[in-house]
Amino acid sequence: MFDNYDEISMSRTELLEKIQTQVKPSRFKHMLGVEKMATELAERYMGNIYSASLAGLLHDYAKEASTKEFLRLIDKYQLDPDLKKWGNAVWHGKVGFLKVKEDLGLDNEEILHAIEVHTVGAKEMSLLDKIVYVADYIEEGRDFSGVDKARQLAKKSLDIAVAYETRETIIYLADHNLPIYPQTLETYNSYIGALT
Ligand code: GDP
Ligand code: FE
Ligand code: FE
Ligand code: FE
Repeated sequence: MFDNYDEISMSRTELLEKIQTQVKPSRFKHMLGVEKMATELAERYMGNIYSASLAGLLHDYAKEASTKEFLRLIDKYQLDPDLKKWGNAVWHGKVGFLKVKEDLGLDNEEILHAIEVHTVGAKEMSLLDKIVYVADYIEEGRDFSGVDKARQLAKKSLDIAVAYETRETIIYLADHNLPIYPQTLETYNSYIGALT
């Protein structure tokens, strides 16, 4: 992996230490797993391996931030006030990318966008967006029914993997009587054609 991350003027060791001040060990392990899978997908699909590494490592950086912190960021950056009605599941990406920007001084829009949409996807996703979205779902530590199918599909086509993951997520949310963020539905509508 990379010894230095010039984008944030940190060595890998410094970055891993910083991440560990924010998240519990099991989540840190997941973030390393997402980095590994994201860089593998970047190799397969000719994406930027450095961006995949940084986005993978940082995608859940804000997952353990407080409600107060997310509300502060929504106000400060004048995000859509409707976001306040959601919760951590949506905030840690849709708002969390701003915490990464603030805490680490990361200014790479490509990477910040991949972090922003890693949970809910987007109507139009860049190669890096898709890589992080899919890597988060299939990294080696994940173990749920359907993960093997998702891993197979990710070898075939990134768009098919995005479609499958979004479909499964929506089925899961509906089955548990959970609200579906509109952008998740936009991702579904935009990519579901890849599955049929
Ligand atoms: P993680 O952060 O590595 O656990 O994975 P994700 O960021 O992909 O997802 C975090 C949580 O958000 C999971 O429990 C998902 O089921 C949930 N989630 C994904 N999309 C939506 C949505 O549209 N609405 C709601 N309420 N939750 C969602
Ligand atoms: Fe996440
Ligand atoms: Fe995800
Ligand atoms: Fe994650």
